[in-house]
Amino acid sequence: MKRLLVILVVIVAIVSVILLLIDAQDDQGILNKVEKQTTSEKANKVDETEKEPSEEIVIEEVEEKVKQEENEEVEEKAKFSIMIDPGHQAKGNYDLEPVGPNSTEQKPKVASGTQGVVTNKPEYELTLEVSQLLQEVLEEKGFEVQLTRTKNEVDVSNIERAQMANEMEADLFLRIHADGAESAAAEGFSVLTPGQGNPDTEKVYEASLTAAEFIVDEVKEIATIHQNGVIFRDDLSGFNWSEVPVNLIELGFMTNPEEDKKLSDDTYITNLTNAIADGVEVYLVENK
Ligand SMILES: [Zn+2]
Repeated sequence: MKRLLVILVVIVAIVSVILLLIDAQDDQGILNKVEKQTTSEKANKVDETEKEPSEEIVIEEVEEKVKQEENEEVEEKAKFSIMIDPGHQAKGNYDLEPVGPNSTEQKPKVASGTQGVVTNKPEYELTLEVSQLLQEVLEEKGFEVQLTRTKNEVDVSNIERAQMANEMEADLFLRIHADGAESAAAEGFSVLTPGQGNPDTEKVYEASLTAAEFIVDEVKEIATIHQNGVIFRDDLSGFNWSEVPVNLIELGFMTNPEEDKKLSDDTYITNLTNAIADGVEVYLVENK
C-alpha cells in the first residue's frame, strides 16, 4: 500500500513536471509571438516613418516642377519684345523726311495729330496715356516693353521711331494713334498694317498682317464702337522704315463726339487696352 502511494506520488510528480514543461514552452511561444509582433509593429512604424517624408518629397518635387514651368513660361515671354510708339508729340515737326528707303516722296517728320471735339484732349496726350497703360499690361504678361517716348515735349521723327524698334529688334512695333476726320460721323476702331507688294515692307508684310488680325479679333469681342477691321497702308514712314513687324492702332475717332467721350472713359480704355494686349499675346506666344 505504501509502495503504491509512492508510485502515485512519483507519477503525479512526473505528470506535473511534464505539464510545467509544456506550459513553459507555451509561454516561450507567446513570448516569441509578442516579440515577433513588436518587431513587425516596429517594422510597420519604420515603414510609416519612411512614408511620411517620401510623400513630402513628392509634393516638394511637384511644387518645384510647377515653379520651374512657371519660370520657363515667364522666360519664354521675356524672349519677346515690343516697341510701343505713342503717336505724335506736343509740337509737330513739319520738316520733311523720305516716306520710305525706296521712296522719293517726302512727308513731315511728325505731325501734331488730331484733338477731341468734346474733351479737347490732344491726340498726343491720349496716345501716351494708352501706350503707358498698354506697357503695364504687356509687362504684367511677362513681355519686354519699351516706349519711343515717355513725355509729350519731345522731338522724335517717324523714321527715328521706326529705327528705335529696329535697334531693339522688337518682335512687334506697335504704333498707337486716334483718328480724326472732317465729318463728325466718321467712326470706328481699326488696325493699320503694311500692304502687299510694297518693297519697303515686303519682309514684314505677312507677320504684320497676322498680328493685326489677332488684335482685331480680340477687340471685336469687347467692342462697343464700330469696327473697321484691318486696313492696308503704304504711305506711312513709320511703316516703311520698320524692319520688324509693325501695326498702327487707330483707337477711334476723336472727331466723333461719342467716340471721343469713350476714349476718355477709364473703363472703356482699360477694356480696350486689355483686348489689344491679348491680341498681341496670342500673336507672339502662339504664332511666332
Ligand atoms: Zn495720329
